[in-house]
Amino acid sequence: MTTTGTLAPGASVVVVGTGQAGFQFAASLRDAGHTGPLTLVGDEPGLPYQRPPLSKAYLGATADGSAVLLRTEAFYTSRDIRVRPRTRVSALDTAARRLELSGGERLHYDHLVLATGTRARPLPVPGTDLAGVAVLRTLTDADSLRVALAEPRDVVIIGGGFIGMEVAAAAVVRGHRVTVVESLDRPMARAVAPAISGYLTELHRSHGVRLLLGRAVRELHGSSGAVRSVELDDGEKIDADLVLIGIGALPNTDLAAEAGLGVCPVTGGIEVDEHLRTSDPHISAIGDCASYPSVHAPGPTRLESVQNAVDHARHLAARLTTGVSAGYRSVPWFWTHQYDAKLQIAGLGTPGDDHVLLGDDTSGSFSVLRFSGDRLVAVESVNKPSDHMAARKILAPGGRRPEPTDARQDGFELRTFLRGR
Ligand code: ADP
Repeated sequence: MTTTGTLAPGASVVVVGTGQAGFQFAASLRDAGHTGPLTLVGDEPGLPYQRPPLSKAYLGATADGSAVLLRTEAFYTSRDIRVRPRTRVSALDTAARRLELSGGERLHYDHLVLATGTRARPLPVPGTDLAGVAVLRTLTDADSLRVALAEPRDVVIIGGGFIGMEVAAAAVVRGHRVTVVESLDRPMARAVAPAISGYLTELHRSHGVRLLLGRAVRELHGSSGAVRSVELDDGEKIDADLVLIGIGALPNTDLAAEAGLGVCPVTGGIEVDEHLRTSDPHISAIGDCASYPSVHAPGPTRLESVQNAVDHARHLAARLTTGVSAGYRSVPWFWTHQYDAKLQIAGLGTPGDDHVLLGDDTSGSFSVLRFSGDRLVAVESVNKPSDHMAARKILAPGGRRPEPTDARQDGFELRTFLRGR
């Protein structure tokens, strides 16, 4: 345990960013009994909402944006949490402990939480400013995409990661002609082992998605200002009247960097220690924008996930109200839903891992165990929630983990291993 100092009961806390991390922090800080002023500032138009459905069910649903709100207005009123949407923070003065807001207003803080999230990584080719070229990060983006998908389309998705593959599934089942262009030789390569990529490749192809792997985009072409085709590096042109760019995200660190806070050259995120403190004792950073030393990875880590946002937020609220921290140690986990397949990931794999398959990877229900040397570091499960839940417990710091020789034994089960530990 490290003594980190508590917030005074009346201390004024400001959170920049109204995403999952900002929301959760505000909710948890009030739950923990903090009574001072608490303000959530964000440049998006409304109340905090859930992002995961935006690339999945929301695209095919008819409900409006209120269906994805994390809480209604009454929640914030009853807890005296002031939400300030449509408000950009334009400057941070750490010496005066003051923010400058769009419009010139100034806001004092005793403690500042940066939960600024990420933005879409731009694709550096000509034509991305044409109408019909979209990204998907926000509810506003999802609403526009949903309108575009109301008519049958030639949809080209650039990037076969989480967003690209989820939108491909949502679009093809709605009758669109869908092509995915991925620059690596397999989809979701950053996140999963080759066996899982192989399974997803077959799954998408069997639903009619044209999946082009190892291909690069040279240019987007249009007429009358609207996109018409996507030209690949070998000159092939694919018809397109809707192009979604899903090639990853960049952390929003401008405010932190301009104020002189550390930004990690490896992850690009705002540098924090294991207690989620930046280099300024009055400022913390959480969620997708934060780069932290994880006990689950060899180097500085920045994760884009709901789990990371929620657990960072809870850890920070507890630290500020109790004044002590044992360090943030939560097991990372992720999920994606494509067609009827639910893929769940526990832990963090790295490119050089060894893999052990549990079950049959053609059966639609199996797991891949990832080992760094003999150490289990991640478990990726397709339609195997029991493996995933066992893995999250097994990967928690301190417990014994199965080794490759255990996992290769006939009949090995994670649940049984956990029970016998
Ligand atoms: P996102 O949240 O946008 O889905 P991911 O990192 O999960 O982010 O996936 C991004 C995917 O885009 C990765 O599979 C990556 O290999 C791919 N990618 C990156 N740059 C390009 C590019 N220029 N063209 C096609 N695919 C790309």
